[in-house]
Amino acid sequence: THFGFRDVPVGEKQTLVNEVFHSVAQRYDLMNDLMSGGMHRVWKDVMINTLNPPRSDAPFALLDVAGGTGDISFRAAKASGLGFAATVCDINTGMLEVGRERAIKQHLEHQVSFIEGNAEELPFEDKSFDAYTIAFGIRNVPRIDRALKEAYRVLKPGSRFLCLEFSTVDVPGLDKIYDLFSFKVIPPMGKAVTGDSESYQYLVESIRKFPRPPVFTDMIRDAGFNRVKYDMLSGGIVALHSGWRL
Ligand code: SAM
Repeated sequence: THFGFRDVPVGEKQTLVNEVFHSVAQRYDLMNDLMSGGMHRVWKDVMINTLNPPRSDAPFALLDVAGGTGDISFRAAKASGLGFAATVCDINTGMLEVGRERAIKQHLEHQVSFIEGNAEELPFEDKSFDAYTIAFGIRNVPRIDRALKEAYRVLKPGSRFLCLEFSTVDVPGLDKIYDLFSFKVIPPMGKAVTGDSESYQYLVESIRKFPRPPVFTDMIRDAGFNRVKYDMLSGGIVALHSGWRL
């Protein structure tokens, strides 16, 4: 009935992830709103506030990895001055295409560019960005340690790493509701809107498999980052991790 992601080798995991996002690209933004009840907007705003991009004309280069259809980059662009430029990097051309169309509609095509690339092997020079964001992306990457090392490599010293990701609900009561929602509501809702329930079954499984915040924090430190911390949002549905390359 589903992909059984637990057992697949790393190489194949990426192939399956690519199929998931290819199949949902056109409806991805709509699904985000439906499944999170609009909450993903609030979580993304928290990330942008924490990023706090300059409102002046000072140059600021954001790299938005697994940036998909560009949501984080568009929000950051709207919160910044004219020196701001974002690069959305994603492994999936279907998602990037939707993003490019959105950029043009929002007149942000000069500030936000879209580049195909793998988080584990970024197509950028060392020390080229002022910030790195990854929102709801890292749990899809087969080798998280490699992605974190790459994040460190491309960041300039003195710049920030921010990661928004689903986490573990541990508020009594809310955990039960969340489980019910995850397994009984999300896959059928995904099927109704995109015709594909397996992709959303994958979504639920991948959230459960992702390392808990204390473990993920250690992984970020192991990649070289300093002052690593996390904040839980909405009772732990989502966690925002951050660190600095010093
Ligand atoms: N950041 C966007 C947002 O918050 O709306 C998109 C998040 S979407 C849930 C996850 C994205 O991760 C997909 O667009 C997928 O193609 C991308 N992705 C998966 N594996 C990747 C990899 N190894 N490198 C780069 N992007 C990847």
